[in-house]
Amino acid sequence: MATIAFIGLGNMGLPMAGNLAKAGHEVTGFDLSEAAVEAAGAAGLATAQSLADAIGAAEVVITMLPAGKHVLSVWSNLVEMVPAGALLLDCSTIDVESARKAHQMAEEHGFSSIDAPVSGGTLGAAAATLTFMAGGSKEAFDRALPFLEAMGRRIVHCGEAGAGQAAKICNNMILGISMIGVCEAFALAEKLGLSHQALFDVASTASGQCWSLTSYCPVPGPVPNSPANRDYAPGFAAALMLKDLKLSQEAALASGAATPLGAEAAQLYALFEKQGHGARDFSAIIEMLRG
Ligand code: NAD
Repeated sequence: MATIAFIGLGNMGLPMAGNLAKAGHEVTGFDLSEAAVEAAGAAGLATAQSLADAIGAAEVVITMLPAGKHVLSVWSNLVEMVPAGALLLDCSTIDVESARKAHQMAEEHGFSSIDAPVSGGTLGAAAATLTFMAGGSKEAFDRALPFLEAMGRRIVHCGEAGAGQAAKICNNMILGISMIGVCEAFALAEKLGLSHQALFDVASTASGQCWSLTSYCPVPGPVPNSPANRDYAPGFAAALMLKDLKLSQEAALASGAATPLGAEAAQLYALFEKQGHGARDFSAIIEMLRG
């Protein structure tokens, strides 16, 4: 069992840290927000009042933070504090460039590191069923695996530094585009007098089949547990989809990839957020697309 410092005890970090503790690891959590530290304490997690105290003698440090700037700021401090030989994992969703900078910082200080963003949301974090997309050396991945397995169900080694973040934003760009496509098809079906169920029964087993339709149908009825059946309570908030689409567009610009549908999806989600719907599930965009 390992001594782990877990930094960032928000909606995702707290349940993930809890699952590591349940697996028998000695976990100490830290967050800048006092409320998050208190909630972690109330949930039975050992907490610290500073980054340095959380790190102590940690063999593994995990960060779960909002964006690249937070990760780089925390990592620039922690590489000065962590005991020699420790393994550093970042599970936040951040831009590929920052992820690579974080790896470089770790390497310059002699630490192994992994970028391991997740999909599966807060329910997956609580149930330890997350999917992890990992980037880094094979040696670092092998060391990280038992810790990722305590928090998730599917762990994929995607390649070298930054490859986990690259996989995450490419996947979510597909998801954003496909959700808009499915929403447009349902909105057109409504105008044509075709029932939701009839479109679902055909498309879910025909060439229009995709996860946004079969697992996350954006209209109530055909998939009883999709957010559409609970007035679009998330699920996966539209603001988080927008964040990931923006990351895909930054990466497309930096790498020279043409992603016109990704750009259009980012614009539509930006408009949806501007209209005050950022906290709703991302499938609620069907309401805006109906016009
Ligand atoms: P959150 O805002 O609930 O939690 C982030 C936490 O980081 C906050 O408690 C904040 O106080 C803390 N923090 C910020 N700067 C810090 C610092 N310098 N030191 C210590 N703590 C600091 O966010 P979340 O929903 O837990 O998401 C975390 C990451 O996971 C994000 O990158 C997000 O994109 C990604 N993600 C979230 C979901 C989801 O469904 N919520 C799903 C997949 C991926």
